[in-house]
Amino acid sequence: MINRILYNLFFIAAVMVTVTGCRSVPYTGRSQLMMSSESSENQMGEEAWQEMCKTTKVTKDSVMTGALNRVGKNIANAAEKPEYNWEFKVFEVKEPNAFCLPGGKVAATTGIFPYFANDAEMAAVVGHEVGHAVARHAGERMSQGIIQSSGGTALSIFTKTPGAQEAYGIATEVGAMLPYSRTQEYEADQLGMIFMAKAGYDPAAALTFWDKFGKLGSNSRVKELLSTHPVGEKRLQELKDFYPKAIQYYKTAPAKRGLGEIYSQK
Ligand SMILES: [Zn+2]
Repeated sequence: MINRILYNLFFIAAVMVTVTGCRSVPYTGRSQLMMSSESSENQMGEEAWQEMCKTTKVTKDSVMTGALNRVGKNIANAAEKPEYNWEFKVFEVKEPNAFCLPGGKVAATTGIFPYFANDAEMAAVVGHEVGHAVARHAGERMSQGIIQSSGGTALSIFTKTPGAQEAYGIATEVGAMLPYSRTQEYEADQLGMIFMAKAGYDPAAALTFWDKFGKLGSNSRVKELLSTHPVGEKRLQELKDFYPKAIQYYKTAPAKRGLGEIYSQK
């Protein structure tokens, strides 16, 4: 037993040394544990996306699709990840949700649209999700998981064979399903405000959206997104505190869009 534990520890240490170790998050400079490569995370994101597109209906609503593409592309430009294979899709799902998989696959559900008052509020949510991807929060979460799990499980994440199935299981959890840590959430909020501001959307819309969304807590429809994105006083305060920094990015944005298109509320 001890031998096995020692072996696992040795294995984990070896993987850590060979695969990398730490990196600092763009913009925030926070140091994070990183034992996977960005290209392998993006590959997992790609696989999860293909699976999702096979199993979930994409909406035919051209207004929603057009809005996500318009806002998403502006956020993608601001995120400065030309190596991503960006794609934007609206899935026919009642529960309000949105995510960005590693590598730039961005999704929103039809159910989230009634909660957006304008392009800028959508930019706040898309920016937040893209923030998770750019900060490689999924890779960080996997790396933390590796430390907690046995060496045998860790192996499959990197080699994909013979444990490809396990790696795939992780891939499906990569962006959408598992909650991130509080630290990662606040960081995604900051990156989201930076990206929306760089894209020319008024970052104040992040405050109005999350404040409004947090107050819907008793509405069961929004429970899923709220469970992974709790909106408490602390989070709203962090957003407010960051606003002056976000405004600096807004001031230098090449195109000012303000709130962008205003949606008619049903
Ligand atoms: Zn988040």
